[in-house]
Amino acid sequence: MNVVEGRAGGGGEWSQRALASASPAVYWLDRPGAPGPFPPLRGRHSFDLAVVGGGFSGLWTALQAVEADPGRRVVVLEAERLARGASGRNGGFLDSSLTHGHDNGVAHWPDEIDTLERLAGENLEGFIDTLERHGIDCALEMTGEVDVATEPWQVAGLREYHAELEGLGARVEFWDRDRVRSEIRSPTYQAGVWRRDRVGILDPARLAWDLARAAHRLGVEFHDHSPVTSIGREGGRVTLRTPEGVITADRAVVAVNAFRGPVRTRAHVIPVYDYVLITEPLPAERMESVGWKGRQGVSDVGNQFHYYRLTADDRILWGGYDAIYPFGGRMTPEMEQREATHRLLAEHFFATFPQLEGVRFTHRWGGPIATTSRFTATWGRSRDGRVVWVGGYTGLGVGATRFGAAVALDLVDGRTTERTELEMVRRRPFPIPPEPLRWAVVQMTSRAMKRADANQGRRGPWLKLLDRFGVGFDS
Ligand SMILES: Cc1cc2nc3c(=O)[nH]c(=O)nc-3n(C[C@H](O)[C@H](O)[C@H](O)COP(=O)(O)OP(=O)(O)OC[C@H]3O[C@@H](n4cnc5c(N)ncnc54)[C@H](O)[C@@H]3O)c2cc1C
Repeated sequence: MNVVEGRAGGGGEWSQRALASASPAVYWLDRPGAPGPFPPLRGRHSFDLAVVGGGFSGLWTALQAVEADPGRRVVVLEAERLARGASGRNGGFLDSSLTHGHDNGVAHWPDEIDTLERLAGENLEGFIDTLERHGIDCALEMTGEVDVATEPWQVAGLREYHAELEGLGARVEFWDRDRVRSEIRSPTYQAGVWRRDRVGILDPARLAWDLARAAHRLGVEFHDHSPVTSIGREGGRVTLRTPEGVITADRAVVAVNAFRGPVRTRAHVIPVYDYVLITEPLPAERMESVGWKGRQGVSDVGNQFHYYRLTADDRILWGGYDAIYPFGGRMTPEMEQREATHRLLAEHFFATFPQLEGVRFTHRWGGPIATTSRFTATWGRSRDGRVVWVGGYTGLGVGATRFGAAVALDLVDGRTTERTELEMVRRRPFPIPPEPLRWAVVQMTSRAMKRADANQGRRGPWLKLLDRFGVGFDS
């Protein structure tokens, strides 16, 4: 979004003032309503299925397991508190895509894309059905999403995108400059495409908390502060160890996404930190000044992009742009705050909405997106197939984790299904090279994407080479 950087100038000072009192905490999690805390695992216990990780993937695994088989004894072991990973820190965009967008799906699985899109639709229906059946109120608004061009050269691409989606039968509208600005008032907008179907916004922490409550009601046992340090085999069963306890189980699903867990995933899944700001609630006259009556999620279309949305109480959540890979994939609490990125985000926010001068940010945070070289989840087996892991949804895991969990259950239970036969499931993404090459490749790719954004989107030789191999780096 280079046009914004160019215009940020005078707003720099008050954008920093707006940031000054922001609490270094996750807004979604900084509210009452979390279930638990559940006691740490102590002693030795036996279960049918052990789930490692209490984010969306783990929660959907547990819930779907007991819904399918009410007698199954299932335990969820969470290293910290439920939803403290990406699941409680995200933008809350619910997108049906299982493939990190249609284009990415076509690029990787052209023969399978129709099936993947159908499964994506079914997954979304199942998602919404679960909310209704369990009375989960996660403030879901099926508003659709507006993708905006903030540079004149992006408009042609947006027109093509619109035509492509329309050709697929999607309900989409192309908005020219005047129209998009009449809907959402930003001087940076050049055009927009409103995807009306299969995208919404929700409150991710409330989703996770209520998924946990639903699973708990169906008999799933939860343990917070129970990091699984190892998984071994013992007489045809698996043994999971935590600092104070041991579980033996028939099978286990490891759903730690970006985190380093008890099975090796790092050749395929690496952490990338993404950063977010959220404003105070906007009073009615401020809201009037931005319009945004349709309350859609918004995303701009550069390689380095922002995503933003309204919350139920009319705050604006504003995130994205920088995607930071920590050398060695180190995940530390310090990574969750990044002054330079938060400052940049604040500047970009006020360049996009200068009429909001004086609005303050209340929270600032960051979180680990887990990415793969193809930007979609991947699955792996270990311990003779008694353990299955899943992760790597990149920036679109809110909806896709339900599918990821369903596949993990199919695999760990040894069921052959339409899902497990997908090439997307059977084939792993191109491996990510080990350090220090990994670091160098990520840096080169990030720089090349910045250059492309600054150069009318033209992809240089490095990005073209990656395109040829169908690999990349994204958030
Ligand atoms: C800032 C940000 C914005 C995002 N925005 C969006 C968005 O708007 N829309 C969207 O679709 N997606 C978005 N995503 C991605 C989405 O949040 C993730 O894909 C999704 O939450 C992944 O869920 P998960 O359960 O696989 O992983 P996580 O939520 O990260 O859960 C993994 C859990 O495992 C636990 N754990 C780790 N190690 C162990 C261990 N050894 N033992 C036990 N437990 C362990 C962790 O504590 C954590 O709770 C965003 C992500 C981030 C970080």
